[in-house]
Amino acid sequence: MPELPEVETVRLFLKKNIIQEKTLSIKIENPKLRFPIVKEISYKLCNAIVTKILRRGKYLLFLYSNDYAVLFHLGMTGFFRLNELYKFRKHDHIIFNFLNKKLIFNDVRKFGFIKLYKKKEIFQCSHIKNLGPEPLGCEFSISYFQNYLSSKTTIKNLLMNQNFVAGLGNIYCSEILFRSRILPTRLVTTIKEEEIIKIIKAVKKILSNAIKLGGTTIKNFVVSDQEVGYFKNKLMVYGREGLPCLRCKNKNVIKKLIQSGRSTFFCSKCQI
Ligand SMILES: [Zn+2]
Repeated sequence: MPELPEVETVRLFLKKNIIQEKTLSIKIENPKLRFPIVKEISYKLCNAIVTKILRRGKYLLFLYSNDYAVLFHLGMTGFFRLNELYKFRKHDHIIFNFLNKKLIFNDVRKFGFIKLYKKKEIFQCSHIKNLGPEPLGCEFSISYFQNYLSSKTTIKNLLMNQNFVAGLGNIYCSEILFRSRILPTRLVTTIKEEEIIKIIKAVKKILSNAIKLGGTTIKNFVVSDQEVGYFKNKLMVYGREGLPCLRCKNKNVIKKLIQSGRSTFFCSKCQI
């Protein structure tokens, strides 16, 4: 599932390729997504130019030269492809026709969505308005974190909470806590100040490295979960159950547990 670095990689790709492009027409191939694609999208955006592509958490926002904007969520398997000519593929949902190129959104599992908003309303929409700060921004700081120290939850669940910090998911939370040497099951109330510092540093380091790597993997005008997921090869704990810990080597193997219905990976020697 795409998390912040993957969505940012997609954003950088789109920014490079469709900014200032005029939308000649839009074809809805299959409206069935998490929320059905509304018909208005095809005429409200007709002749409008894409002026900005922003990201907030795991959401992408396209701002247009007229009064409109669209919000994209990639869900589990949503991805874009950019082609000169359109060739149908199963699970294609919408095609944006520009002068010399076509942008297609495809989503096999259909957990993604595309919603149309008035530009002035998009930042106040229910998906965006309660999101916590961007983890790479300076607002995500020690003093901000300290406001949440009385939360009656585990540290992994706090990091996963989009209202606490936007954009982190299951994969990066395991990686962040491994790097911070903190067990994912620790209660937030037991986290010390020096540990907050470690977590914040790990968040910023891991996400920015992942964005750097993601940016190098885009090729053939295809951006997909699989393709930008290349840097999953570099993961230290996620998906490594039963394999030797990469930090303490042969002393311990990575364990997996299910936390709030999601897999968590950790080393019981390196993390306390
Ligand atoms: Zn270890």
